Amino acid sequence: MELTIDRNSDPRYIGKNLLQNSKTWQQELAEGFNNIDDICEYLNISQADKTLLPSSSTFPLRVPREFVARMEKGNINDPLLKQILPTKNENISASGFSNDPVGDINAITEAGVIHKYQGRVLLITTGSCAINCRYCFRRNFPYSDFQLSTKKHQKAINYIQNRSDISEVILSGGDPLLLNEQKILGLMQQLQAIPHIKRIRIHSRIPIVLPSRITAELCNGLSKIKKELVLVAHSNHANELNSKVRSAFEDLKEANVTLLNQAVLLKGINDDSQQLIELSEKLFSMGVLPYYLHLLDRAAGTAHFETSENQAIALMNQLKKNLPGYLVPKLVREQAGAESKTIIA
Ligand SMILES: *Cc1c(COP(=O)(O)O)cnc(C)c1O
Ligand code: SF4
Repeated sequence: MELTIDRNSDPRYIGKNLLQNSKTWQQELAEGFNNIDDICEYLNISQADKTLLPSSSTFPLRVPREFVARMEKGNINDPLLKQILPTKNENISASGFSNDPVGDINAITEAGVIHKYQGRVLLITTGSCAINCRYCFRRNFPYSDFQLSTKKHQKAINYIQNRSDISEVILSGGDPLLLNEQKILGLMQQLQAIPHIKRIRIHSRIPIVLPSRITAELCNGLSKIKKELVLVAHSNHANELNSKVRSAFEDLKEANVTLLNQAVLLKGINDDSQQLIELSEKLFSMGVLPYYLHLLDRAAGTAHFETSENQAIALMNQLKKNLPGYLVPKLVREQAGAESKTIIA
């Protein structure tokens, strides 16, 4: 028998996941993998592999189980696994790779906002993420000094209030959707009260890595915010996009959120035109437009993920040849001190 469900009246119908998945997203988060032994055992990968880095105290392994479930068992080169598995390559020091490759530390104002570009400010709402991506510049970032405490929070709001040239606020981190409903919606309501703010943008990898966090309560709250809302998700590979991710995007879309995606070009993971084409097409089938393809930020410990700029341009030429223009992301690099992202192609 087929179940028919009225999503507006049936309380079981949360984010289109029926009760069979009755864990809260907080439980899912708490039960994620946090060490190499467990994940290798689950994926049938030999722990004798000498390339792995058993522990990293400053940037530990962290990944939700539902993301790991999309990996291929027994394949140490799985493109999703490679994004989260600590390897000894991280100990290689390479020239040009540093702890603050994009100049964020210098751009932080006293009020705790990062104001690098005209008209847009970025708020570090939390230093945590649901997943630790090995290539991320966040691995070396001194978050405890910068994230919004209750005291800094009001300072940041005041800063935005006093600068009528700011029209867009970007909630970033870490991952802003790790905040609970009260905190994230409360912050958005404060921003909503500022007349010169036109848009509120969320930068989050959570719809991809922990789609259960896109709850009905969150979407309901978002749908009531009277500003233009944009969510920039972060998916690097089509294998990341499954039916749960699709449901999360559908729910966000119903809440009137414009959906975009940014990806990072990563050696051995998505530096392949067929993969990038598939990513763009699959995102679009889920209502998401490709926005940026980033060249790697040169954070210490990430050199093994870097592709050359020439290779990136060649890949972009393949994308342009094979996709409609609106499915081709902009290839960009973030340069310390620049007034915007630098468009390469
Ligand atoms: C990337 C970024 C933005 C947003 O740039 P867009 O080109 O508008 O997407 C804003 N502030 C900071 C600090 C950034 O790093
Ligand atoms: S900020 Fe984004 S890329 Fe970096 S660890 Fe968090 S989710 Fe991954």
